[in-house]
Amino acid sequence: MAVYWYHYVSLVVCVQIRQLPVWIFLLMLTPGVVVAGKEIETRVLELMQRAPLIDGHNDLPLQLRKLYRNRLSKIDLHTINRTNTNIEKLKLGRVGAQFWSAYVLCNAQNKDAVRLTLEQIDIIKRMCKEYEEFELVTSSVGIDNSRKIACLIGIEGGHSIDSSLATLRMYYDLGVRYMSLTHTCNTPWAETSAHGLHPFYPRNTSLTEFGKKRNKGLVMVTFHTEFVSCSSTANVSTVADHFDHIRKIAGPTSIGIGGDYDGVDRFPKGLEDVSKYPALIQELFDRGWNESELEGVLRKNFLRVFKTIEQVRDNSNLKPEEAEIPINEVDNPCRLNLAKVTLANKKHNTISGKNSQERDVSSVITIVTMLTCICLQLMTVQ
Ligand SMILES: [Zn+2]
Repeated sequence: MAVYWYHYVSLVVCVQIRQLPVWIFLLMLTPGVVVAGKEIETRVLELMQRAPLIDGHNDLPLQLRKLYRNRLSKIDLHTINRTNTNIEKLKLGRVGAQFWSAYVLCNAQNKDAVRLTLEQIDIIKRMCKEYEEFELVTSSVGIDNSRKIACLIGIEGGHSIDSSLATLRMYYDLGVRYMSLTHTCNTPWAETSAHGLHPFYPRNTSLTEFGKKRNKGLVMVTFHTEFVSCSSTANVSTVADHFDHIRKIAGPTSIGIGGDYDGVDRFPKGLEDVSKYPALIQELFDRGWNESELEGVLRKNFLRVFKTIEQVRDNSNLKPEEAEIPINEVDNPCRLNLAKVTLANKKHNTISGKNSQERDVSSVITIVTMLTCICLQLMTVQ
């Protein structure tokens, strides 16, 4: 694009000043620019061949639920075109590893978020097993050794664990390798930056004591148009501005890519789907990023962080955290309060000698309470 623009300007300038020698001179320069442009393009693709992208975030599984109710048998992921992502486009985009997002909407918080998250993990696993181009991996070695598009699983938003570290551990056992603390809703233990959009747990500021299980991370830049430009339009340059800014304040080794394809409606011009990643790398090249920095952005920065986390896991003698979130910090009427259940059982034992009519009334009250709870959930869903 830059080449054609230059060619056009050359011509206009020459016609205006009517200096034939200058026109010839500029025209002679133009093929050189074309060659230089092609060289950079080849250089970008060679670089991405050497360091295939590890993308930190793709919401194709969400689209599979929304558009196809997770019926994988009804679609062909090679050519599916209602989404930003398909296998052909992933290959064109030089994607070597993809974190698929097991995302469920914030509206599921305090309802069936855990079940929905499990179902999204299920669709990711089935997808990665069914297509020979994919391979499910759970480690940095798995990414390095894979000759396919390595599939990893991430969870988008702490509401998916229902304030339970045991649930988080079980997700890990299923292959999940990251969870972002919040989406657009607060959890009982962490505050979202989008505070105000969803009214759950408005009292939180930052992390509560229960929420302070954190470590060093990596900024994986999203391409979501509204996020990178605060408006409805953006282009490759707008996204590159964010990379420049993060490099300036955090250094080039703290940046990665998490495109968020299929997670939002609008993407910048020139970055419309997963085949377009090379355009961003090209832009960064043009802005003076060197190959080593770009290899970091594409792959090595993520692997460094991932390997550090694996070392912490392997070298520490930490036992599984058994702390539970205090029940009074969870504002969920349908959550079982074990202390109250124990009390109820004791009470039940003491009245067991009474007549069966009283016991029946007690059972009916329990059932009515449960039904009310379920109805409230259904009403909220609708
Ligand atoms: Zn997402």
